[in-house]
Amino acid sequence: MTQQQPRPLPSFLNPNDPGPWAVFLEQIERVRPYLGELEPLVHTLTRAERALIVSIPLRRDDGTIEHFEGFRVQHSLARGPAKGGVRYHQDVTLSEVMALSAWMSIKTAVVGIPYGGGKGGIRIDPRNYSKAEIERLTRGYMDAIYDIVGVDRDVPGPDVNTNGQTMAWMLDAFSKRAGGMHPGIVTGKPIALGGSLGRVEATGRGVFTITCCAARDYNVQIEGAKIAIQGFGNVGSVAATLLAQRGAKIVAVQDHTGSIHDPNGLDIPALVKHVAQTGGVHNAPNTKTIDDHDFWATPCDILIPAALEGQIHEGNAGKIQAKIIVEGANGPTRPEADDILRANGIRVVPDVLANAGGVTVSYFEWVQNRARYYWSEEEVYERLDKIMHAAYTAVSATAKEHDVTMRTAAFITACRRLIEAQQTLGIGGI
Ligand code: NAD
Repeated sequence: MTQQQPRPLPSFLNPNDPGPWAVFLEQIERVRPYLGELEPLVHTLTRAERALIVSIPLRRDDGTIEHFEGFRVQHSLARGPAKGGVRYHQDVTLSEVMALSAWMSIKTAVVGIPYGGGKGGIRIDPRNYSKAEIERLTRGYMDAIYDIVGVDRDVPGPDVNTNGQTMAWMLDAFSKRAGGMHPGIVTGKPIALGGSLGRVEATGRGVFTITCCAARDYNVQIEGAKIAIQGFGNVGSVAATLLAQRGAKIVAVQDHTGSIHDPNGLDIPALVKHVAQTGGVHNAPNTKTIDDHDFWATPCDILIPAALEGQIHEGNAGKIQAKIIVEGANGPTRPEADDILRANGIRVVPDVLANAGGVTVSYFEWVQNRARYYWSEEEVYERLDKIMHAAYTAVSATAKEHDVTMRTAAFITACRRLIEAQQTLGIGGI
């Protein structure tokens, strides 16, 4: 098969403002030259297998009715059930949900867990609604997407503005309609409903493991290594704790309250306590406050952005002194910054690899739910470490083979796995 397909933009997206889906298509274009004999089949990835738009009526507490637009997209089911979170945000668009579902296909393929990629969303600003209203909306959403989700079809999880409670309502809504109790229909559940031990720490622990792998790969001794971390929430604080326990020096931390610095290494257990008490790193005892802009120029071996997207850009990429960047956050590096970092010899371990510990333990949660047999925290961590190590090794080997960045290598690894699965299933036949 040799025919080349034009780059498709679905007819329902605005060609003048196609949104994040166009970013995904661009990323696929970049890996095309490295796909060898699979390249002619790359078009299978440039579509979403299914995109559902639903209208969810909500009865407000005052008795009036409002309607909300909701989405569930399944980018690829070739490697397993679709997997991906549901976000509640006023700016959610179909293009965004499509792109996020495709990035989940990439992430699950990079770490080699048997899932496809999915994502969901509702266009709502949840801050303007009561808890009872959000519960009714969540149940309405599950009812609306019921026909396409299932334990073996599509497994939602939490994302922006959704959490364990949201998942509990989705589980209840699904199980009532399906009959019986089906804990594997969602992940990120509270432990009482079949959540996995270790899920809360999973992403930070995965970032820690990947940081250790990258340090070894690029000849940085982790004991005594100087590390700067942006974000001290779920991901950043767990990664910092484990790295400090391993002997690394966390020399700078930035969060939404400010930036702190100690060239001899911050006292991480004390900082965790301070943040729990005050809500941020600002004014932590025995630390020096630095300007937020100077944070990026901190002399260090490793930088871990673990806060928001788009944080490393044209304006600050040139100041970064680290040898290695490990992306704990989703999308923290803008494409133009990637080029600057590469030119400066800085290795970037991409988000689809570095923060995949979260979805990996979600997969463990689903496995445990299906088996109705639950693992100890040690078992969860042991299996997580194994998967993260294997994923790092595969991506690093691909990067070296083609002399490309780890980001491109991660996409090559994932695209190959996705296309091979689809090819083996058969494409275009009956
Ligand atoms: P969190 O809400 O627990 O923590 C976010 C941290 O970012 C906080 O320390 C906050 O102060 C900081 N922050 C917010 N605005 C900031 C700003 N303007 N400047 C500097 N710091 C700022 O979130 P989290 O769960 O730790 O997630 C962090 C990132 O990791 C996000 O990009 C998220 O999408 C990604 N991620 C999280 C998981 C997970 O399992 N939690 C999984 C994969 C990816």
